[in-house]
Amino acid sequence: MGDLTLIRHNAHRVDVDGHAMLMHVPTTSLFELDAASRDVYDLFRRHAQVDSDIMRSELGGRHGPEALAECVESFLALDLLRDAATPEIPRPIARVEEIPLSTIILNVNTGCNLACTYCYKEDLAVPAKGEKMAFETARASFELLMRQARDRDRVNVVFFGGEPLSNMPLIREVVAYAGPRAAREGKVVDFSLTTNATLLTEEMVDWFDAHHFALTVSMDGPKALHDVNRRTVGGKGTYDVVATKVRMLLSRYRSRPVGARVTLTRGVTDVIAIHDHLKYGLGFAEVGFGPATSGPVSVFNLDGPALAQVFEDMKALGRRYTEAACRGENIGFSNMHQLLTDIAQGTKKAVPCGAGLGMLAVDKAGDLHLCHRFVGSDQPTYGNVAEGIDVPKLAAFIEGAQDRSAYGCRTCRIRSICAGGCYHEAYARQGDPFAPVYHYCDLMRDWVDFGIEAYVRIMQANPDFFRSHLEPRKSRT
Ligand code: SF4
Ligand code: SF4
Repeated sequence: MGDLTLIRHNAHRVDVDGHAMLMHVPTTSLFELDAASRDVYDLFRRHAQVDSDIMRSELGGRHGPEALAECVESFLALDLLRDAATPEIPRPIARVEEIPLSTIILNVNTGCNLACTYCYKEDLAVPAKGEKMAFETARASFELLMRQARDRDRVNVVFFGGEPLSNMPLIREVVAYAGPRAAREGKVVDFSLTTNATLLTEEMVDWFDAHHFALTVSMDGPKALHDVNRRTVGGKGTYDVVATKVRMLLSRYRSRPVGARVTLTRGVTDVIAIHDHLKYGLGFAEVGFGPATSGPVSVFNLDGPALAQVFEDMKALGRRYTEAACRGENIGFSNMHQLLTDIAQGTKKAVPCGAGLGMLAVDKAGDLHLCHRFVGSDQPTYGNVAEGIDVPKLAAFIEGAQDRSAYGCRTCRIRSICAGGCYHEAYARQGDPFAPVYHYCDLMRDWVDFGIEAYVRIMQANPDFFRSHLEPRKSRT
């Protein structure tokens, strides 16, 4: 054995209840280290380089040469060790030659009947000034999706706004067109939307139900918290009307679980109270949390201590989730679901999300944006539904997104889960879609360690949980 060195950023050890777990960072895979591999790993952590003499003198008394050799072989095969004399080969940038879309997001109206104080939409208008997408643009968008999704069995259409329910005639037209059109190509189309719920009627709910829409409601918790930011154009809190509509929705909706999406801002951070109200008070299947990403930074954004407190609360709720999962119950905490899914499925992301690759958003003029959040922003567009995708321009963006070497993501231990973070959040905060929001990074790394602990505990107590509660979320009921 020549001199070998540990590729430190490819391995991360987390000890859970006496189990020494090693995360293989490039593939987010977890291994339990046995006594020999634990000692070998620790030996390489202590020394910049290790040769057979060091190995023999430090570990020869505890493990036989065959066990040590086997361990070194498997670490080499996993790219955890390399020849100390050979420089590390950086991960190649995958060239992008085509855009295999699975999802198109239609920005059906820039208008919204609410004026939530933290809304990030740069093109948002009051209802009277909202600009609606024409059916011809939506039809051309769907045709683009059909062309770009040649090899897929399922495609997704997402309706976005402003408030999408303020352009229901278009949504109905698109559904009537897209279902049969996709069926002619042997494909199934799934529809989804996120709404503020204020315009929902019983007839709409039944129609969404009949078409198996995946529905998410934007809601920030009990009245005192929800009304801080989610207000009408006139400045009035909307909790009462939203809660009434949500009760009606949840009492009639059968085809899929309905989730709530919460935006955390300064003063709206009580994760546990918000979850309990939305899950147990109103009856949502799941509750997911995200921080506000725009608006006047000093007013809405969580400062360092507030953000740290939010993560502590997320962990407190995560512990409840874990205890319930060990008993076979699911408390519907979306962030924890996502984290455990990433760990259980071994996420290997080269880019943070499908924006620009599996998914594009269309504005009222038919121009193509990376995702719904960029519609109306001053960021570049990438072609048009009439002329097609500007593939070279989009490819350059996606290839650039894979190379975060200038930013410290290259050696980050959660890079295969995070891959640099949301482009829009980075753009909204720092004006650059590739610049990591560093004040999240330590908290996110800690959150992933928390997820590893939860994963190991659930695997020990109730491995069936992953089969019965995580994987089925992907399929339609
Ligand atoms: S953005 Fe931060 S947490 Fe994400 S991969 Fe880069 S350094 Fe890691
Ligand atoms: S860029 Fe951000 S907001 Fe857009 S799809 Fe990706 S993660 Fe979501």
